[in-house]
Amino acid sequence: MSKHLETAAPACTCVPPWPALTTLIEGTTHPVVPASTHTPVSALYLARCTGCGAAYTGPWKRLPCSSRAA
Ligand SMILES: [Zn+2]
Repeated sequence: MSKHLETAAPACTCVPPWPALTTLIEGTTHPVVPASTHTPVSALYLARCTGCGAAYTGPWKRLPCSSRAA
């Protein structure tokens, strides 16, 4: 659980930043998590913070199981 921060200032205003991320794919919101490298999906879609809606520009990946109801 490292707290490595990107040099670019994040747009998220939450404390702590990026509490959770989601992405909108074909009209459906999917929960995603930060990843070490970009994935084919993260290259196509933009993830956003669930708290403030800021765009997450770093690499992320979809959760393997995203069917759990909120
Ligand atoms: Zn936020």
